Amino acid sequence: MPTSFIVLGSGQDGGAPQLGETTLRSPRRSASSLAVISASGAVVLLDASPDIRLQVEVLLSSPLYPHGRDEFLDGVCITHAHIGHYAGLLQFGREAAATREIPLHATERFLAFVKENEPWAALLRDGHLVGVPIDNAAAVIDGDLTIAALPVPHRDEYSDTVAFSVQVRGHPWLLYLPDIDDWGAWDGAEEELARHDVALIDASFSTYDELPSREMGSIRHPLVTDTITRFRHLTTETRLILTHINHSNPLGDPIAPITDQAAAAGFRVAYDGLTISREDENA
Ligand SMILES: [Zn+2]
Ligand SMILES: [Zn+2]
Repeated sequence: MPTSFIVLGSGQDGGAPQLGETTLRSPRRSASSLAVISASGAVVLLDASPDIRLQVEVLLSSPLYPHGRDEFLDGVCITHAHIGHYAGLLQFGREAAATREIPLHATERFLAFVKENEPWAALLRDGHLVGVPIDNAAAVIDGDLTIAALPVPHRDEYSDTVAFSVQVRGHPWLLYLPDIDDWGAWDGAEEELARHDVALIDASFSTYDELPSREMGSIRHPLVTDTITRFRHLTTETRLILTHINHSNPLGDPIAPITDQAAAAGFRVAYDGLTISREDENA
């Protein structure tokens, strides 16, 4: 089997539609999460969303999922402490899956946040998860797969934020970058996108007037139009996939102009269930 990933969730933290909404303003999406399956059958989750229960059900029913294992996952990597990215960890606890010693790969600051706050702390104390700092050393998942953390500028009320560089036998294959404040605030952005074969990147908002009830300045994200302008020249070498799409963002809707604009510039739009395998596995 080639190394593969499955987009389990392509939405922003609250999913689409959000709780209480009666009309769908964008395609239905669960919160951002990605499963990576190595060539030798290791399975790792990047982010544990509030929708994790149904997302892992999708993962386990995929023909790519390797059955006959002790635990259903070999590890969980968390980008940061905003609810859409770590709330699903609660499902590993004793009231739920009651897993045994699944590695939790995250920054020192994120792990400290978990240790200092219930009900998260019990997950580590009771051995359902084992914290593995990822600040200075990439997570070694198996002989094929390593996952390195890249610091990213983003609101850091509770923890710092990272993107994940998934490497297959040392080759930078996949970049997972669901949240960033502003491309201009990260000097290494273009270089990082260019050196990976595939990059899933923050596409929260298409316009500044999507959320009239919120001060957009307090929830900074690059606009999709800015992302297209900055990085369209990379799309011949790197497969750029827009993800973490807010419930207010029509991106992905076939009748929305922004969907055509992204496609014409060579970008793909993530959807729940999108699967990509590494084609040049033996190269
Ligand atoms: Zn988010
Ligand atoms: Zn965030």
